Amino acid sequence: MKDPNLYKLLTPGPLTTSMAVREAMLTDRCTWDDDYKEMTQEIRRSLLKLAHAGSKEYTAVLMQGSGTFGVESVLSSIPSDNDTVLVLVNGAYSERMITIMEREGVKHERLDFKWDEIPDAKKVGEYLDGHPEVTMVSMVHSETTTGILNDIEAVGKEVNRRSLKFIVDAMSSFGAVDIDVPEWGIDFLISSANKCVQGVPGFSFVIARRALLVASKGNARTLSLDLYDQYETMERDNGKWRFTSPTHVVAAFSEALKELKNEGGARARFARYEENERQLREGMKELGFKPYIKRRHQGPIITTFLYPEGVKIDFKNMHSYLKRHGYVIYPGKLTKADSFRLGNIGEIYEDDIRNILWLFEKYLKKLEE
Ligand SMILES: *Cc1c(COP(=O)(O)O)cnc(C)c1O
Repeated sequence: MKDPNLYKLLTPGPLTTSMAVREAMLTDRCTWDDDYKEMTQEIRRSLLKLAHAGSKEYTAVLMQGSGTFGVESVLSSIPSDNDTVLVLVNGAYSERMITIMEREGVKHERLDFKWDEIPDAKKVGEYLDGHPEVTMVSMVHSETTTGILNDIEAVGKEVNRRSLKFIVDAMSSFGAVDIDVPEWGIDFLISSANKCVQGVPGFSFVIARRALLVASKGNARTLSLDLYDQYETMERDNGKWRFTSPTHVVAAFSEALKELKNEGGARARFARYEENERQLREGMKELGFKPYIKRRHQGPIITTFLYPEGVKIDFKNMHSYLKRHGYVIYPGKLTKADSFRLGNIGEIYEDDIRNILWLFEKYLKKLEE
């Protein structure tokens, strides 16, 4: 067998998982067996706990597909034809919300912010006052495009004060940033299996305010992404998914949730990621790489770096050098500047950060030769 730890991923999902998470996938499971359905139910309960949400007010629904399928499921199932969704845009993932609603024919508007700035809650409030047609506000928490961590709590206050609905893509933050879903006034929170909970890719999940989800019955514009239908089946049949579910991925996720709990929950994981990020950012700065996001808005998930001035670096070449030495890095997603990204999440610890910094240093020296 090939070494399963040939290299580690410094990419924000898929990410490096533990051996126990991978081993959970060695059993083939049946989708309608009670023990498998109970695994789904236990996952749904654990997700609510992580979100600080009670099961009367909220429910967790799992949905096949990657994270985008979850976002599309919410944006195409929840708004009715009478709703207008305002999207706060400061990166590629909020931009994707617009694309989804264009395709699905959902009425929407956009409010743009600079990609290295967080959406200003006061500006959002002012916009909402001038636009009474808006009924829902949608935004990204951790914009993985840049690594910026948006202030969903402050925006949530503005949204809730006006009794509007609040949709949050917390794809790359949930599990590592402690999010109090009811307290922060979030009605729909979307995340996926292969980010900070440290599972493998294959499904997304939605923490949904139950009454609003039930009220959305019949709004869905597609069959397979119908969030209400999926919820209805899971509730009625004690954890049964509507269509074939990714059984191995679900088992891996169940194990990943246990590991998150054993690590000490979201706060402990946050501390580890944040320390990874800090050491990496400091070390990279010393080597001449400039972080794109200002420190006060920098999240612990992923960091965007600009190349050192005057040094010509070919991303592909650097990528293969680092991969040969055990680490996979991520290309940049900025439209205007040449950049690359390093993820701090997954089974990544202090030693890895030291290794990667040492490799970057060696690579730069090699370029000078
Ligand atoms: C990963 C991610 C998504 C979903 O991307 P997929 O490739 O569909 O998994 C959506 N939003 C954010 C902020 C993400 O980080």
